[in-house]
Amino acid sequence: MLQVLATLVALALGAPPATCTYDTWTWSVVARRAVAHRHVSKPYAAVTAAERATDWPTTGCTMCQEDQERVAVAGMPAVRVCRHFAPQIQTALEAAAAAGARVETLVGYRVGRAGGPVVHGKRTQYGWHAFGEALDINSAQNGLYAHCRRDTDAPHTRAELGRCRRRLGGTWQPETDAARSLTPDGALVAAFRRVLGWHWGGERRDTMKDLMHLSPDGY
Ligand SMILES: [Zn+2]
Repeated sequence: MLQVLATLVALALGAPPATCTYDTWTWSVVARRAVAHRHVSKPYAAVTAAERATDWPTTGCTMCQEDQERVAVAGMPAVRVCRHFAPQIQTALEAAAAAGARVETLVGYRVGRAGGPVVHGKRTQYGWHAFGEALDINSAQNGLYAHCRRDTDAPHTRAELGRCRRRLGGTWQPETDAARSLTPDGALVAAFRRVLGWHWGGERRDTMKDLMHLSPDGY
């Protein structure tokens, strides 16, 4: 109880929280699921550089649950994101909804080694989600496509997706499901570009298309 009180007082004073806690895992590309689950709890003063986002000096975003904030927009599931971005994410989601977007699933803060090179069948790096700086929206309608062959500069065409393999989530069908699909000029991508300057995973220039994903650089 005293510790809760101390945390609340610290937050009210703008001081860092007393502790840093998070649950993490490693993505196995062989098993195609999260493995090596681990719970971390430490004094906040012991947070390492690896546990801070690359933009930490300006955002203060870390892997700690204590640095996340809940965003809840009417008609959408609630989501946890880095406190620094919470007000803007709220604004962007509200703007997208007002423009006709329908959000049924929302994943923000999620700590796990889900990116980077594969070593011994496992991913090695943390992405923006680990710091609460990314959103996955309507994954059932906006899949993650991999092994895309790039022979055009168009970053996100149906023809190009036809040369990829869908690895997670559902098939992208913006023609028949505009309200739930992320598209380059659609309500969701446009709102996050305008309000936060964020990029869409469909704009990636490598061999993957993460169509559910929004983050500071689209990766
Ligand atoms: Zn994502």
